[in-house]
Amino acid sequence: MSIKNPMFTNHVIKIIEENYRVKTLEIGHNMQSALPGQFLMVWVPGVGERPMSIGNSNPLTISVADVGKVSKEICALKVGDVISYRGPFGTPFWIPEKNSSENDSKAKQNILVIGGGYGIVPMYFLSKIAKENKINSTAVIGGRSDKDIIYEKQLFAVCKEVFVATDDGSRGKKGTVMAEADFLIKSKKFDCVYACGPERMMHTVAHLCKEHGVPCQVSVERYMKCGFGVCGSCDCSGKTACVNGPVMSGEDALNLPEFGKAHRDAAGRLES
Ligand SMILES: Cc1cc2nc3c(=O)[nH]c(=O)nc-3n(C[C@H](O)[C@H](O)[C@H](O)COP(=O)(O)OP(=O)(O)OC[C@H]3O[C@@H](n4cnc5c(N)ncnc54)[C@H](O)[C@@H]3O)c2cc1C
Repeated sequence: MSIKNPMFTNHVIKIIEENYRVKTLEIGHNMQSALPGQFLMVWVPGVGERPMSIGNSNPLTISVADVGKVSKEICALKVGDVISYRGPFGTPFWIPEKNSSENDSKAKQNILVIGGGYGIVPMYFLSKIAKENKINSTAVIGGRSDKDIIYEKQLFAVCKEVFVATDDGSRGKKGTVMAEADFLIKSKKFDCVYACGPERMMHTVAHLCKEHGVPCQVSVERYMKCGFGVCGSCDCSGKTACVNGPVMSGEDALNLPEFGKAHRDAAGRLES
């Protein structure tokens, strides 16, 4: 019998300190099947297992913010330590086919990626794949302040333009990512807009794209335990965020009654 998502155990081959609390871990594994938007379930024996977005497939890469009990243990790993994980899980971001009318068949596709906090990680992976496929990517990234901005250099290497916004104005435009994204969505022509980060931000992006008739995809974050749709802890109105998501179209996300409004805690209780 073949196991679709076995537990992998491999060595951490490189660690990059992105900022005061986010570390990027490169793992000695070429996970060829991993796509942008998908995640790993990273296991720390005796502590717990948490979903982490895939930031690159070769070498397999994750970026972890040290915020609680499992992330703290992952961030404490050193080069040469072993790391255990299952995956890849979930739906990936997809790039819609361009309409090949005679006039625009030679025009390059343009996408806009919007990332807040560690939501920037899958946006980098998506922009990298876009570049490999000769698709122009524009990025808007944001965080609370200058020291929260991650992956800026990496994005510059794969994007046509990179815009930065911070809540306190210490870097880029003052405000949320919408301070930049709002203008771009209204004034430029994108084949698709992608967002990953705080759900209220993704809700605003999905709304704006709907209003302006631009295709949009978002990544919903729910409390996940199994990663393959059995435990039901990431229920999204009868669907599971780990199998039917995390990536879904903006329209589908807007149809979820909880999207951008409420969260569920570890016991499945609704939190506003
Ligand atoms: C699809 C997906 C991708 C993610 N990608 C990343 C990533 O790339 N980098 C990153 O740093 N974090 C990512 N996270 C968040 C990560 O899974 C953990 O939630 C976070 O690391 C906190 O876990 P902890 O044990 O350190 O904190 P805890 O001590 O457990 O709790 C701290 C907070 O995290 C929330 N939380 C705890 N466990 C989960 C869980 N399994 N799912 C959702 N929320 C939870 C709790 O509600 C609490 O508010 C992702 C989550 C999802 C659902």
